Amino acid sequence: MRTLQQLTRPNIWRLEPYSSARDEYSGKEAHVFLDANENPYNGPYNRYPDPLQRELKALISKVKGVPAHCIFLGNGSDEAIDLVYRCFTEPKKDNVVAIEPTYGMYKVCADINDVEYRKVLLTENFQMKADNVLAACDENTKVIWICTPNNPSGNDIDRGEIEKVLEGFDGIVVIDEAYSDFSSVSPFRLDMEKYSNMIVLNTMSKAWGSAAIRLGMAFAHPEVIAVFNKVKYPYNVNLLTQEKAKEILSDYYQIDEWVKIILHERAKMIEAVKVLPFCEKVYPTNANFFLVKVNDAKKIYDYLVDKGIIVRNRNKVTLCGNCLRITIGSKAENEELLKALRVIKY
Ligand SMILES: *Cc1c(COP(=O)(O)O)cnc(C)c1O
Repeated sequence: MRTLQQLTRPNIWRLEPYSSARDEYSGKEAHVFLDANENPYNGPYNRYPDPLQRELKALISKVKGVPAHCIFLGNGSDEAIDLVYRCFTEPKKDNVVAIEPTYGMYKVCADINDVEYRKVLLTENFQMKADNVLAACDENTKVIWICTPNNPSGNDIDRGEIEKVLEGFDGIVVIDEAYSDFSSVSPFRLDMEKYSNMIVLNTMSKAWGSAAIRLGMAFAHPEVIAVFNKVKYPYNVNLLTQEKAKEILSDYYQIDEWVKIILHERAKMIEAVKVLPFCEKVYPTNANFFLVKVNDAKKIYDYLVDKGIIVRNRNKVTLCGNCLRITIGSKAENEELLKALRVIKY
């Protein structure tokens, strides 16, 4: 394993981070705060929020089973994805390796940061071969991206193959578990102590029903979290988000209930879509969406748009020719989609 110093960009390793008023004094005992040029009026919004989101992390730690000092919180997972590049990859020199097809933001952030992005094609069944991923790496590979359950295919990536990558690579392995609440495979976030080179991503945007509040999580070794904290904006998660997240996380029985209903609806939808005449294949899924191969994706997509129903056309994505990605909605929404699909004319 390369050391964290070897994996971190030298300027970031040396970086003296911005020290905010709330960093320098974060105790609770004081009652007169004249250190941050805040307005004394309009409480509680007049005060800068906790830059390290301590109360929220304590709650997330309990719900997710990850120690609080192994948690980074950001403005969606997208912030953590971007931070991985900014902290660990040297533009024009380092590269990253990712499975293909997968979530588009890994490539967009690589392009923004001017970092080479190497794609390793999945098999026909959207499975990853660890040997292929490791073979794509060289001495300038800093990061490997794996998404499981994968987007847009929906399937769990074989756990044994991911373990092989974690054990066989001497850099950082990011495992995006945005959809793990919908899967029955044990999530990697519970194996934090086993892999010091692993970063696991979670989000409030999917099973937790809170895409609007923008809260993403990265779980990693405390030294990795410390590098993220140096580089992030000082107050990257606003007060409204921190407060709302605490409220939602306290009500996790509700989440279990939602997930149960969505999984039940998913099974119903797949059975119903499978038998439609234009359907060629429904791919196995462990997420809150499924990928379906049809005879003419564009035609069906346009037909649905015309009816005010939007699905995702993945026709141009590698291995996804003529595929639509369909999210599981409410019972009423699913029913409306089926009704429309059943009467499509040729
Ligand atoms: C939806 C999704 C996310 C969520 O991103 P946020 O910025 O947290 O909303 C992350 N990863 C994958 C693979 C996703 O599909």
